[in-house]
Amino acid sequence: MARVYNFSAGPAALPLPVLEKAAAEMTDYRGTGMSVMEMSHRSQEYSDIIETARDRFRRLMDIPDNYHVLFLQGGASSQFAMVPLNLFSGGARADYVNTGAWSKKAIAEAKRWGDVNVVASSEDKTFSYIPKLERDMFSPDAAYVHITLNNTIYGTRYTKLPSVGNIPLVTDASSCILSERIDVSKFGIIYAGAQKNIGPAGVTLVVVREDLVGDALEATPTMFRYATHVKAGSMFNTPPTYAIYLAGLVFEWLEDRGGISAIEEVNKRKAALLYDFLDSSSLFKGTAATEDRSLMNVPFVLPTEELNATFIKQAAQNGLVTLKGHRSVGGMRASIYNAMPLEGVEKLVAFMKKFETENA
Ligand code: PMP
Repeated sequence: MARVYNFSAGPAALPLPVLEKAAAEMTDYRGTGMSVMEMSHRSQEYSDIIETARDRFRRLMDIPDNYHVLFLQGGASSQFAMVPLNLFSGGARADYVNTGAWSKKAIAEAKRWGDVNVVASSEDKTFSYIPKLERDMFSPDAAYVHITLNNTIYGTRYTKLPSVGNIPLVTDASSCILSERIDVSKFGIIYAGAQKNIGPAGVTLVVVREDLVGDALEATPTMFRYATHVKAGSMFNTPPTYAIYLAGLVFEWLEDRGGISAIEEVNKRKAALLYDFLDSSSLFKGTAATEDRSLMNVPFVLPTEELNATFIKQAAQNGLVTLKGHRSVGGMRASIYNAMPLEGVEKLVAFMKKFETENA
């Protein structure tokens, strides 16, 4: 069996032990004689699967009791709409920080339902940094403040949360959830698509504070109301059963490894290895502002398009794949989520060093 080191931004690499366990249980889940995929979501077995996954996730994130954990569908992109639909009922204005393509999509969707105030943007420098945010930049009457905690395309992250007072802070944590400790109590809503640090695409995790679940705008479809899913325990309709099962296995793997503080240490070592090399290199250059660098997505460039293309091709021949950067930044991007082992980053850096020597 040949496994590559897959630096995809998402869907991304999953931990090998998780895939192996899923494979072993594929056709006969623990003596039931059927695959999880074939199981009624109302069965006792499945109920155990989803509850165990939820409990593990709550423990990993240390989620306070006054928050609900929802397993939804529609990706983070559906949350771009669900957030305003559910939160605009308490006031039809929200503050957004624009730190990249995903923020922009969230802003565009919110604008369909109310007043959106873009308090700051880093678009002037291709989103290579996180804008400085002060308390008085936010509107006192805002229903919420929205930030993108980690910017998958540009490789930036908030290292400090904005101070927003009593306004609920809502965040898209799609590309950094479970990668480092965060204080859930600082947020009103945290949402994330699964296909980076949680599991396969198809399930979307939403952590929502109790007081924000309630009235939604009148026209909100039943499926787009948080209250619907809170009331039904994420079982209002058929949930993405297999994706949730796989996410549960990923949570188990994380707990076995010592939880988020343990994986955070590994993630910091991985990122430091790559950034230290980029900082010392005469050929490669990181594109994100040093103080705002992501632990998960590392974009970098070579001096010419030709060298970028050669690097990507030769890296793939060496088992280091999906390193092509997003078209808006160009060059390369190494996504090094939880499932990327330290050895994968060591191999990448060794290959970059060799490439530098050969192309200097
Ligand atoms: N937000 C961020 C930060 C993302 O990285 C992505 C996907 N790469 C999305 C939102 C969109 O997620 P989905 O495809 O699950 O809708």
